Amino acid sequence: MNKIAPQPGIMDIALYQGGAAHVDGVANVVKLSSNENPFGPSPRAIAAVQAAAAEMHRYPSSDHAEFRAAIGAAHGLEPERIICGAGSDEIIALLCQAYAGPGDEVVHTEHGFAMYRICAQAAGATPVEVPERERVTDVDAIIAGCSARTKLVFIANPNNPTGTMIGAGEVARLADAIPPQAILVLDGAYAEYIDGFDGGAAEVRARENVVMTRTFSKLYGLGGLRVGWAYGPQAIIDVLNRVRGPFNLSAAGIVGAQAALADTDYTEQCRAENARWRNWLAEALAEIGVPSDTSCANFILARFASQAEAEACDLHLQANGLIVRRVTAYKLPAALRITIGNEAACRRIAAAIAGFKGKGA
Ligand SMILES: *Cc1c(COP(=O)(O)O)cnc(C)c1O
Repeated sequence: MNKIAPQPGIMDIALYQGGAAHVDGVANVVKLSSNENPFGPSPRAIAAVQAAAAEMHRYPSSDHAEFRAAIGAAHGLEPERIICGAGSDEIIALLCQAYAGPGDEVVHTEHGFAMYRICAQAAGATPVEVPERERVTDVDAIIAGCSARTKLVFIANPNNPTGTMIGAGEVARLADAIPPQAILVLDGAYAEYIDGFDGGAAEVRARENVVMTRTFSKLYGLGGLRVGWAYGPQAIIDVLNRVRGPFNLSAAGIVGAQAALADTDYTEQCRAENARWRNWLAEALAEIGVPSDTSCANFILARFASQAEAEACDLHLQANGLIVRRVTAYKLPAALRITIGNEAACRRIAAAIAGFKGKGA
């Protein structure tokens, strides 16, 4: 008998459930379960990755200097205060690894993104869940949930899977009120969907205790490349760079994301299409008795009368080749999260839900 055992807390981690991509026996499936860009990556990103393929025997940049300069120029941020990660998931993990350990607490909200809890547990820290108010981040509940042990506070703004967000005044109030040993992390995975929104960068610049994370996986359509970044106080970025692997981004990821960043016509088009069809779908579903909160992201959280109805609707959608996301693990058992697809996908999903509700044409 060996005595091999993982670190305490590791076996308590509930495995991350990704969005499904297939339904057995159903053809022409549309995947609306992972908040991916329905139009795919920019053609310029595809070309850049293809061009990089011939050089894949070379190690990638380890300081990402050129890429960070491009991000800084695009967003008006100081490149030396930017760190790149293999998806923003890696940055969430680095923050937990560097700042939280056994005995420390990591605060996240009731319907917050699953990786906050997973990364806290992986670091041996204790996740602390605080309530939301009607599916909206509740700053007072977060403040009440903080203690002398709190090291990190994560909020996604807009949040996944609710799609709701809080304003800059509320974010500032939260940053002012968290304990002095804690970092507020503003997860801006969906920030690009809001025209002109800085994702909280101004809050980061004004303070020493706020970090913003961003990703190329959503609006930029590069989920498969694994590229994200964070902007934070110099002292925190310096810490994260010490635990970051030197070659955490692939060469293809760096050039693909840099090309995607430069293609602003494409991202503007994707942002406009998303807003247009998100509003159309939300209205179409509301008309047939399926409400949702006003979403600021690329999905809506459709609410049903009960868990049984949500599950029955999900099965009906699957039978019709439409894959959406159940969010029971996010404590929203009577809801389904639906990624905004292209026009055809939105029309298909509205028709299928209408059919399920007995209100089909
Ligand atoms: C999708 C998502 C991320 C990040 O994803 P990466 O692909 O790891 O960059 C981070 N936070 C939230 C809330 C998300 O929905």
